[in-house]
Amino acid sequence: MTDSAEEPVDEPKPIVHGVASALSPLVRRIVAPNPSMMTGPGTNTYLVGIDEIVVVDPGPDIESHLDAIAGCGGDRIRWIVCTHTHEDHSPGVAGLKARTGAEVLAFDARDDLVIDRALGDGDGIEATEFVLRALHTPGHASNHLCFLLEQERMLFSGDHVMEGSTVVIAPPDGDMGAYLASLDRLAALRPRLRRIAPGHGHVIEDPLAKLDEYRTHRLERERQVIGALQAAGTTTIDAIVKDLYADVPEVLHPMAAMSVWAHLRKLADDGRAHGDALDGQWTAA
Ligand SMILES: [Zn+2]
Repeated sequence: MTDSAEEPVDEPKPIVHGVASALSPLVRRIVAPNPSMMTGPGTNTYLVGIDEIVVVDPGPDIESHLDAIAGCGGDRIRWIVCTHTHEDHSPGVAGLKARTGAEVLAFDARDDLVIDRALGDGDGIEATEFVLRALHTPGHASNHLCFLLEQERMLFSGDHVMEGSTVVIAPPDGDMGAYLASLDRLAALRPRLRRIAPGHGHVIEDPLAKLDEYRTHRLERERQVIGALQAAGTTTIDAIVKDLYADVPEVLHPMAAMSVWAHLRKLADDGRAHGDALDGQWTAA
């Protein structure tokens, strides 16, 4: 503990695979052993509640991880929810359901996920001690949900907001315009939002600063993309990537191309660019 303004009052809980760590009175986190460039230290699985538990994102289908979740929550696990259906978030659902019999809820059944009930924007899971409210936040994935734990003003953000790694917006399911609108929507929660528990990385203690940083970063990149497009008149995504990402290792260029494509599609929606395909021609409007 410290009273210095330079440092946070509490050190973040260390990220250790397979061990539950308490983040608040109602929330525990177990990190899956799937670290990578895309997943940071691994996927965060959250257990919300004490007597009745919602598991947020069982993560990948890894036996030891699912055993750890079931071992921690036991038969008090009543619900399993997914923020979205990407491979590091939802494939563990079936194995966890087999272990617990819990009800599975998500925005939709996709990418091999089988659900018991669909959750729409504003739908709540009402447990004895808390309500967990779903917010539809498309952008990273069209079926992405965030979950607000109203009692603790904690938001489970999945891959909409991460700590320590970048959110990839990959069209066509990923949508930059929708992503920015979803960021604004979280910022508008304001007094109801105190902490963000992301799908990867540590708890974010200053949500509004983080959301602002995200927004600024995307809009700056958008300015660079439209600048490159206007300078060239007609160009390709490859050429824009070579220009804007010259200092980024080439192995990351395919990911950068996805991001530039997402920006160009948004600019086309805004009437500022013409084009469509990842490998096609784009022109300034
Ligand atoms: Zn993820």
